Amino acid sequence: MTTLYSASWVLPISSDPIKDGAIAIKGSQITDVGSGASLVASYPDSTLHHYPDAAILPGLINAHSHLELTAMRGFLESEESDFTGWLKKLTVARLELMTPDDRYISAACGATEAVRSGVTALADSCDGAYESMKALGDVGLRGIVFQESFGPDPRLADDNFARLNAKVARLADLETPLVKVGVSPHAPYTVCGRQLELISEFALTEGLPLMMHAAESAAEERLLREGRGTFAEALAKRGIEWHTPGVSTIQYLKRHCVLQTKPLLAHCIRVDNADIETLKESGARIAHCPKSNAKLGHGRAPFWTFLDRGIAVGLGSDSVASNNTCDILEEARFATLMARSDTGEMSGRRMLAATDALHAATAGGARALSLEGHTGELKAGLQADFAVVSLAGPHQLPSYDPINTLIFASSGRDVVLTVVAGKEVFRAGQVITTDEERLAARMKEIAVKLGGA
Ligand SMILES: [Zn+2]
Repeated sequence: MTTLYSASWVLPISSDPIKDGAIAIKGSQITDVGSGASLVASYPDSTLHHYPDAAILPGLINAHSHLELTAMRGFLESEESDFTGWLKKLTVARLELMTPDDRYISAACGATEAVRSGVTALADSCDGAYESMKALGDVGLRGIVFQESFGPDPRLADDNFARLNAKVARLADLETPLVKVGVSPHAPYTVCGRQLELISEFALTEGLPLMMHAAESAAEERLLREGRGTFAEALAKRGIEWHTPGVSTIQYLKRHCVLQTKPLLAHCIRVDNADIETLKESGARIAHCPKSNAKLGHGRAPFWTFLDRGIAVGLGSDSVASNNTCDILEEARFATLMARSDTGEMSGRRMLAATDALHAATAGGARALSLEGHTGELKAGLQADFAVVSLAGPHQLPSYDPINTLIFASSGRDVVLTVVAGKEVFRAGQVITTDEERLAARMKEIAVKLGGA
């Protein structure tokens, strides 16, 4: 049985926008894309859902999230001037105050926020991967859940790696056609070199995707290049030995085999031309998180240069503790404006266009997650992952061009339908797969426990 979805615009990404277009869906797949009139004629027995004054686009892809931290939205504002203190408060709250069920509720709330804003796939990094995988599965999202590993002390590298190994083995049972497991050595300042090598080898042997935070903060750069600063002081205080490599994060990751895994790297702000060439040569992918980077005062990644060099780059919200929303349309607008505001990077180039940002939010994100050929575009044979965004709001009118309207005048709140693998998960203002009232009530309880509201 074929179902047709038609709208005033269909934006396949892989080809030109189609005015009065439609897509045909059978099971979990897209079977046809074209003009509404031609698809209605080709599939006379199909069910038709028509959305006037709206655009159908590939599901948005969030290339970097931490859904288990959704309960920490607004929780860390007073720590933002001190990244080390910010991370410490977050870690203590996550490990000592939140139960596994709290983490599940937090992840499920984050997942409902995602589908409400047209996201159909995420690369989610978390300590409680079991709960995040369950939440993604229950809400009906596609994604890779990266089990985090921590351990800056080289003496504990083997034990920490064994723990990660055991956790990943337990997660295999939760894998589905939509939700897959990955591994994430958290960051260069929280995982020692030997542990990075063990995890990289493991990822290569087991064929697991690997994600890592890289080249994010000034404190990280100082630790790696000079062996000084707040991260260095924190390691010294814990009696952990640190041999300053004296190189950039990207060269450090190359040295410790991480780049061999073609990792997904979040942030990549502090990169020079040599680093960008290394990233390109290694086939690493990037999750560009401009709002989180700006909010925490970390700076701005060279988004334009990544695109220019043909590096796979998607857009990530990072956790809502540092954003404070999981809204990839808003992230795309911010990414475009930030890139345009960097006159140095823009020198001699055309302006970054709304089409570039929409590409990064969809097909670019799919490449970043190694899901190209499965999702990220509207094309026959791909998975039926798509969103319908209204273009009729007073804040959007008039609309001379649907892609400019989407990027410069719309947000996730304009999404009216989200479909993952052919299944409607958000429709008519409601997430169909979960009890949102119960989740909201539990979220308030967690906030009280964390000492907030
Ligand atoms: Zn992150």
